[in-house]
Amino acid sequence: MNNIKKHIKTAVNENRDLIVSFVKKIVRTPSLANNEGNVQRIIHKKLNSLNLNSKIIPVIFSELENHPAFNDDGFSPESRINVTATWKGRSNSKSLILNGHVDVVPTGPENLWNDSPWSGKEIDGKIFGRGSCDMKAGLSSGLFAIAILKDLGFRPNGDIIFQSVVGEESGGCGTLTNIIKGYTADAAIILEPTSLKLSPIQSGALTFRLLVHGKATHASMRWDGVSAIEKYADIHYAIIDFEKHRHDFFNTKHYKSKHRVAPINIGTIKAGQWHSTVAESVVAEGRLGVFPNESNKDAKKSFEDYVFNFAKKDPWLSNNPPEIEWFEGQFESGQTPLDDPLIKELGSIYKEICDRDPVIEGVTYGSDLRLFTNHANIPSVLFGPGDVRLAHAANEYVDIKEIMLSTEIIANMIVNWCGGSFE
Ligand SMILES: [Zn+2]
Repeated sequence: MNNIKKHIKTAVNENRDLIVSFVKKIVRTPSLANNEGNVQRIIHKKLNSLNLNSKIIPVIFSELENHPAFNDDGFSPESRINVTATWKGRSNSKSLILNGHVDVVPTGPENLWNDSPWSGKEIDGKIFGRGSCDMKAGLSSGLFAIAILKDLGFRPNGDIIFQSVVGEESGGCGTLTNIIKGYTADAAIILEPTSLKLSPIQSGALTFRLLVHGKATHASMRWDGVSAIEKYADIHYAIIDFEKHRHDFFNTKHYKSKHRVAPINIGTIKAGQWHSTVAESVVAEGRLGVFPNESNKDAKKSFEDYVFNFAKKDPWLSNNPPEIEWFEGQFESGQTPLDDPLIKELGSIYKEICDRDPVIEGVTYGSDLRLFTNHANIPSVLFGPGDVRLAHAANEYVDIKEIMLSTEIIANMIVNWCGGSFE
């Protein structure tokens, strides 16, 4: 390990208490979608204390709505702000975006939590609370990587752009705003909880509504009617087959399991009017996974073709075909090639600091990565502290050791990627 790396390691360790207390502070500041303002102002203030010329950028839906990647999450935009700060480099060397979202998902039933979801409590080297793992710890590690380098007298050659964004969980309006405003760089690290794996590939997800028709009649004469529930049940099991078939067909290396890349989930079913009436309709809502390399259009078509072809084999359904509607979130998949310099550089820093090979793995969930890769042409990777399985659960937490490692790796990445010197 060279001297610079040693200095960074020492400085990260010396800053442990500051980092931990900052993570706790922002976990204790609730930031559900549409209410991200308070936590953004804390981050804005912190960035300004580092002389980073932090800017508040309003997220205005009317500026986004014509963009093909815009998803209206139905929230009022008035109170929504991004915070973006640029650490100017001295030359035109490679620039780097560090991106993270402050919005968190709802807490769920609070009685499932051991403490308040906003406790920010530290127990056994872990910080608990909604948003601790997803992704206030990751965001803090990016912020403190910058703070520590500034403190060490580092002056970068390329620009470092720190982006604290809103609305990721509900469709990405924050990152899309920054893209439309023209923020760009040679690479982006999105500090999502990946347990410090490198994830340059993400699946997409499309929300659909499936309407299946039946024919209502009195229960006592049920043979004269057609139960939409029974027809739906056939389609339901066909969709499960379809999910398997799609995975056989697609090349899905770089995922932990090649059978779990683009799941299809039916989340809600509403059927029938009354117990003694044959059900006249079923409305099922679900989510269709999109493979990397597959467009939303192709994924939708393959699903529609499959359901309609299946229906054609049934005398009732062929005359009364199901209807499919696509609504709410329509999230593309996205990917950065594994041989991109971003992945190589970050991987080699990981290896040097952690003394083991990095794990490079695709993720099955949507993230802002797709916006960078598909709509801004910026190679991107998800990388950060915390286990995503804890992310939307009760008693969400993040391991402090991982926050420290993440901070160290990001600081070294800035030095290597952007270049620069220590004064
Ligand atoms: Zn997240």
